[in-house]
Amino acid sequence: MKIAICPGSFDPVTKGHVDILERSSKLFDKVIAVVLVNPTKTPTFTTEERVDLIKRVTKHIPNLEVDSYTGLVADYAQMKNAHTLIKGLRAVTDFEYEFQQALINKKLNPELETLFMVTNQDYMYLSSTLVRQIAEFGGDIDMFVPEEIKDILKEKMIKEKK
Ligand code: ADP
Repeated sequence: MKIAICPGSFDPVTKGHVDILERSSKLFDKVIAVVLVNPTKTPTFTTEERVDLIKRVTKHIPNLEVDSYTGLVADYAQMKNAHTLIKGLRAVTDFEYEFQQALINKKLNPELETLFMVTNQDYMYLSSTLVRQIAEFGGDIDMFVPEEIKDILKEKMIKEKK
């Protein structure tokens, strides 16, 4: 079975992520969206919340699994018997960082290939950081996040401000 991993912080999941997950799921037997836990960073949404939000917006993708992991994605892939990492590329600015990551992951796990998927041009400007910033200042996030989670995100951001 061909398994691909889509790793990220997903803090929170956006329409850009969902687009990459939908397209990846058409190319592989199984896709795993994995929330990588970085103990040095304080995310806005907890790991459980991020996993839950991804699950809510990907119910329509039958061959997608959602998981979380604290550790190296190279080890996670090995554990799951996956040989492909899929990374979305928005702009040249993503490339340098992703290129470095891909080379390091290859050193850590030589069996692992990183594939870059070009963003849907509708979402090329979109990042989780941007969604958080807009929501924090009461802006309209409806066009950036899936319908199923927009109210949950707004409530959470309002609570955070209090
Ligand atoms: P962000 O930079 O939005 O915080 P993540 O760390 O959660 O993103 O990203 C997980 C993966 O999804 C990465 O491969 C990232 O490049 C990709 N990605 C995020 N937003 C988009 C988008 N709008 N279009 C394409 N790929 C994206």
